[in-house]
Amino acid sequence: MPEIIGVDFDNTIVSYDDLIYRQAIERGLVDGQVLKNKKILRDVIRELPGGEIEWQKIQAAIYGPGMGRATLIEDVFEFFIRCKDKGIRTYIVSHKTQFANYDTTGTDLRKEALKWLDKAGFFNAGVSGLSSGDVYFESTRIDKINRIRSLGCTHFIDDLEETFREPSFPRDVEKILFNSHVSGDFAAETNGKVFEEWKDIHRYFFNGK
Ligand SMILES: [Mg+2]
Repeated sequence: MPEIIGVDFDNTIVSYDDLIYRQAIERGLVDGQVLKNKKILRDVIRELPGGEIEWQKIQAAIYGPGMGRATLIEDVFEFFIRCKDKGIRTYIVSHKTQFANYDTTGTDLRKEALKWLDKAGFFNAGVSGLSSGDVYFESTRIDKINRIRSLGCTHFIDDLEETFREPSFPRDVEKILFNSHVSGDFAAETNGKVFEEWKDIHRYFFNGK
């Protein structure tokens, strides 16, 4: 069976770590000592009084008006190029609502994401094998999983354990967690694989091929 690889978008292809850090400093929520890491920043901010709302406001800013300054994660673009060269079909499947609760600017988050992908060169189909029609935004995690199934993905790459721990996640889709802060024994519990960097994912798929 030919491989069909689905890839998550937020924090798998695009990094918001710098943006979150700057937002958190500007809002006076953290000092300069905290690590520039999404998960660590999130946990610190959420524990502050009113932190849950502050966190949602930051998310509204980074996925909306701030999206243009989000950064491409190292080696991910090259992964799509290699898949294209090997004739492997790829899709981007993302859990992303159209609008953010705390965004007062009315920014369409899905349009911002598509603009970002276009600007990063992803829709140069001759290079990446992708067009905007290969990008799916879903409103819930369950809808995302249903999309992964209906596209016939053989592998899915995501930074969130929760995607793979969802009971409806298809058993026959290989789980590849892109994450350096894994809680517990993800691999043993879900029969998945964990990689900290995209170059390790390259190696996993393409070594010897
Ligand atoms: Mg993600």
